[in-house]
Order: sequence, then structure tokens, then C-alpha cells
Amino acid sequence: MATPLDEISPQYLTEVRERERGTWREKLRKRYPNWTKQLQWGFEHGDGWRTITERVFADLATIVGTDNPEMEVHQIKAKVGTYNFYIDASHLPAVQRAAIEARLTEANSEAGATCETCGRPGQLIRDRGWYHVACPAHEVRDIQ
Ligand SMILES: [Zn+2]
Repeated sequence: MATPLDEISPQYLTEVRERERGTWREKLRKRYPNWTKQLQWGFEHGDGWRTITERVFADLATIVGTDNPEMEVHQIKAKVGTYNFYIDASHLPAVQRAAIEARLTEANSEAGATCETCGRPGQLIRDRGWYHVACPAHEVRDIQ
């Protein structure tokens, strides 16, 4: 489960907003304010997965209605090389929840073959104990 908003420091929330300013991430937040309200950690993956996330939002909008307040996105992150999109859709009908789950499974498969850095075709790489999906040009991860 995601950490409730009140446990995140206001300074960290400000940093996330600063980092997102002027990027596709900020645009998604403006388009889907209800869905991204609880996305306090920001979009935790590289720009190579940008179109995957943008298309997931667009397809979820088709399934449940754009920015339907009955749904919240809690986290979107790369974790051991996999694409994770955590939502609370418990207030939605079962048929919509099933469609959402199917769409997120599809996104996970797609991300598994897409370089997280640049979006070109890639594969799961283990580099110094870190797993990530990369094309040949981005196999070696820059440790930050
Ligand atoms: Zn790449």
C-alpha cells in the first residue's frame, strides 16, 4: 500500500513538483488531477517508458472515464526492471477493474521489452546487482 500523503514531508512534495515542472509528467498531472493527487512520489521511471504511461492513462480514461474520481493512482515505478502501476480502483465495478488489470498486465509486458532510458526495444539486464530494461546502448546503468 502507498504511504498516505500526510506522512510525506511537504519539502519532498515540493521537490517532486519542481522536478516535474515543464515535463510530460506535469502535463499528465494537469490532465488527470484526481488520478494523480495521491501520486506523491512522482513518476518513478525513466523517460523511455513515457509513452507506456501516457497510453495507460488514455486507455484507463476509455475504460472508466477521464479522471474519474472513483479511481486513484498511488505509484508508478520501475522495480527490479518491471513496470508497476499501483491504483485504488476498489470503488469501481468488477468489470472495469478486470479491464484495468488486463491493461496494466499488457503495459508490464510492453515495458519488459522497452528500454527505460530511451524507449527503443530492450531486454531485462542485470548490471552490478541492479535489474533494468535496456537497449544495447543503455545496458550499463549510470549509478546516481
Ligand atoms: Zn536505450
